[in-house]
Amino acid sequence: MDTYRLLQMGAAYAQSLSSFHLNGKPRPFSASFAITNKCNLRCTYCDLPNIKAPELNLEQMDVLFRKLKKMGVLRLGIFGGEPMVRKDLGEIIKLAKKRGFFVSLNSNMLLYDRYKDVLDPVDYFFVSIDGTAEKHAINRGKQSYEKILEATRDLVKRKKKVTAISVVTDPDKSMADYMVDLAVREKIDVHFQPECYDSMCAGRTAPDDLEHEATRDFWLYLLEKKKQGAPITSSTGYLKFISQWHNYKQTSVYDAEHRCMAGSGFISIDPSGIAYPCIFTQGNFEGVDLMKYNWEDKFDGKTPCTTCIVGPLLEYNLLFKKPIRSTIEALGKAVY
Ligand code: SF4
Repeated sequence: MDTYRLLQMGAAYAQSLSSFHLNGKPRPFSASFAITNKCNLRCTYCDLPNIKAPELNLEQMDVLFRKLKKMGVLRLGIFGGEPMVRKDLGEIIKLAKKRGFFVSLNSNMLLYDRYKDVLDPVDYFFVSIDGTAEKHAINRGKQSYEKILEATRDLVKRKKKVTAISVVTDPDKSMADYMVDLAVREKIDVHFQPECYDSMCAGRTAPDDLEHEATRDFWLYLLEKKKQGAPITSSTGYLKFISQWHNYKQTSVYDAEHRCMAGSGFISIDPSGIAYPCIFTQGNFEGVDLMKYNWEDKFDGKTPCTTCIVGPLLEYNLLFKKPIRSTIEALGKAVY
């Protein structure tokens, strides 16, 4: 990210932060937008492909993007489902860039060959890789692992920033070592996120035999590896927070002592333009239709839960709760 964009991002974040602390109107600086719930995979921990939602067309998206811009959003995360199942992905990316967003794209990369020529304007890529080919297939179904690696290599060759998103379904340290070695070899970063349970978008509830101490030990292991210089994008605050979590069977809790930044600093939008504080709150929060209403007029700052270990959302919350340290780490990576 060039210095000008970095400064712009810093300014948008500072506005969000001050609005939050001064109890002003919500002013999210980041939005995640699922352009489709459809997916070419059926991962064990994700139920999004089973949630039917009409999709916005390009014209409607332009209305949405202008609204987001006016709201103060600068970073737009395009995800799904699988964004590459939308034939107009190239147009969507072009439009998002035209409206001036820093654009990231989350993808399983299986359809990369079909879209590689239209991906150039994307600023940052998140590639799903859960571990070895065998582990990846257990979590995400049988597919071409080699294709994912080839796509990743091509992006790196084209000087694109790539982070592998690795969903942690069990505390297997050998898998963490494998992912770190892969990241070093492929010249990318890796972000580890715990599997989430009990939400409309999650695929399942926690297994009865989930091992708490082994899970805690796993996250401490990652923290140690990061301190030793492993290319782990997850921040130290994030890894520490997860290693101290009280109950790994519970992904989020409501605690009146805490206040969550979801909705105030960042929002999540479904394919039909309905916004939620975060993706995890779909199903227990009445969404706001951004094609009809303004988020800042409808959102009262209250979230159904106030503290969680949901991958990127925890990183966002730390950005607002421990601004100095988290900002230095996140802006250094310019990811979140
Ligand atoms: S604590 Fe906040 S970010 Fe986490 S799931 Fe709840 S509303 Fe979303």
